[in-house]
Amino acid sequence: MPRTLFLGVLLSLFVAGQASAQHKHQKAHVHGHSALNIAIEDAAVEMELEAPGADIVGFEHHAESAEDKAAVKAAKARLADASALFRFTAAAGCVQKTAEVEFEAEEGHAEFHAHYVFECAAPDRIENLSFPFFEVFPSSEELEVQLITSGGSHGYDVERDSPGITFDATN
Ligand SMILES: [Zn+2]
Repeated sequence: MPRTLFLGVLLSLFVAGQASAQHKHQKAHVHGHSALNIAIEDAAVEMELEAPGADIVGFEHHAESAEDKAAVKAAKARLADASALFRFTAAAGCVQKTAEVEFEAEEGHAEFHAHYVFECAAPDRIENLSFPFFEVFPSSEELEVQLITSGGSHGYDVERDSPGITFDATN
């Protein structure tokens, strides 16, 4: 199976599991808390971010006024620049290839969803990931990170006051 397809399947299984769990608890997202799923397979790194609207633009209704629309547009641009939000070990040479960002408002809450693909020149040198994300979005307090590699999956609660994780991508 082509590698990107393999990754996509892994990630969609993972996200589907989360989505069905979320469906039962529509209003369960916690303001200040975002979720980030990361799948690493050789040179390819795929990431999915879910962030409450409250954390990113300070509201969770449909963007109807010109001001709200401008805020959402600016936030999407900031979220699309993933390499300014999530920083891998420099020696790994990870370069952002794609970004897709959506804003979805429903039932009194709203979230930003983003999907990214990075390619790394030396993926075996990925040792850590830091999160300038918290500087860009001051209302965000925690990222619940799920890392998926060929070795399995591992969860990290990354807090604003300690914005980084260390891992061995070859495991
Ligand atoms: Zn909310």
